[in-house]
Amino acid sequence: MVTTSRLPLETASPAHICPFDQACSYLEAAAKELNLDPGLLEILSHPRKVVTVSIPVKRDNGEVQVLAGHRVQHCDILGPYKGGIRYHPAVTLREVSALAMLMTWKCALLGIPYGGGKGGIAIDPKRYSVGELERITRRYMSELIKDIGPSVDIPAPDMGTSAREMAWMMDTYSVNVGHAVPGVVTGKPLSIGGSRGREMATGRGVMIVVREALGDRSQSLVNARIVIQGFGNVGSAAALLLHEAGAKVIAVSTGSGGVFSETGLDILALKAYAAQNRKSLVGFPQASPITNDELLTLPCDVLIPAALENQITEKNVNQIQAKIVAEAANGPVTLEADRSLEARGVTVLPDILANAGGVVVSYLEWVQGLSYLFWDEERVNREMEQLMVQAYVRVIQQSKVQQIPLRLAAYTLGVGRVAQALSDRGLYP
Ligand code: GLU
Repeated sequence: MVTTSRLPLETASPAHICPFDQACSYLEAAAKELNLDPGLLEILSHPRKVVTVSIPVKRDNGEVQVLAGHRVQHCDILGPYKGGIRYHPAVTLREVSALAMLMTWKCALLGIPYGGGKGGIAIDPKRYSVGELERITRRYMSELIKDIGPSVDIPAPDMGTSAREMAWMMDTYSVNVGHAVPGVVTGKPLSIGGSRGREMATGRGVMIVVREALGDRSQSLVNARIVIQGFGNVGSAAALLLHEAGAKVIAVSTGSGGVFSETGLDILALKAYAAQNRKSLVGFPQASPITNDELLTLPCDVLIPAALENQITEKNVNQIQAKIVAEAANGPVTLEADRSLEARGVTVLPDILANAGGVVVSYLEWVQGLSYLFWDEERVNREMEQLMVQAYVRVIQQSKVQQIPLRLAAYTLGVGRVAQALSDRGLYP
């Protein structure tokens, strides 16, 4: 047995639940189910490479601040590392490592030829000017340049970053190597090789798995009662697409509180309101206010946590009244809460399936770029729909055949595929 610590650099996690330990327990459960060779499990429990760089940045007032920028490369057995860059105050190395591992299983589950990676900087982007964010992003990319590349490691947007940051990263990389390299990041603006449909992709993937899961219960999206926590890129896109498909989105929230309407919210009007009120939903006229705690426990058909990790915990799990929980965020349900939902027969659509739409369209963006042929949005959506539905069906079948919950089914498929490749490639030297 290898006895080294799983993470070479230890940083204290502010939350009492260590996200990396939680990720490892899901891996261990899948390994047990697969009867995985202990040596393979040991390899997969460690990120392959963990990089932390110092990012000195001159603030607009002339002060110099030094930030820590992480990039964790969990596994590249199936292809280049792939995963987003997160700018959020709660970012820690442990969290980034957990999310990198999740990306490995997500890509393998979806059958796309990538490994798993993730990056992050512990900043609140709202407290930095656009110029400061540009300097931070460019220096971060420049410090990591030897570890990134279109066939090595391909970043994408995540919480707190968007197409704008990807353009800065692509430009910094390209200027340093001396020619344009659009394939180095995905989630780019259309003008530099981005894909149509990428911005709505994660939300669209959520809509697709929710539609399929309701269908399996002989229920349609039309008039289904949906509750969404989070109204960022993912939550707002899922809300809009579900609303357009005829569902009743009865409650939505952001960190500063939410809004509720028994008859369903007008999502377009809500989006316009949020855009005018610095992303806050508070005071939206056609609805009543609701706290995040109240929102999570509303009676509904589908609850979609689309914000941060650890939102459904031992504390509130018994009050959850949804029939289906679709994990649009990464890790919104804790291990204990997951067990309790399962015992109560609540269907939990696991994160590595439910929020995979983003990385699927990232893959389609990369493929379009490599083939110098760009598709219309209809084709992008069609190809992504196919990959999402196929993965959904595989997870349902695995769960039925093995009589295991959906999360374990998804993990056994993802981990199993990576483990098979690892065993076929063999251990070097
Ligand atoms: N950040 C997204 C995720 O966690 C997208 C990653 C990507 O497109 O590479 O899945």
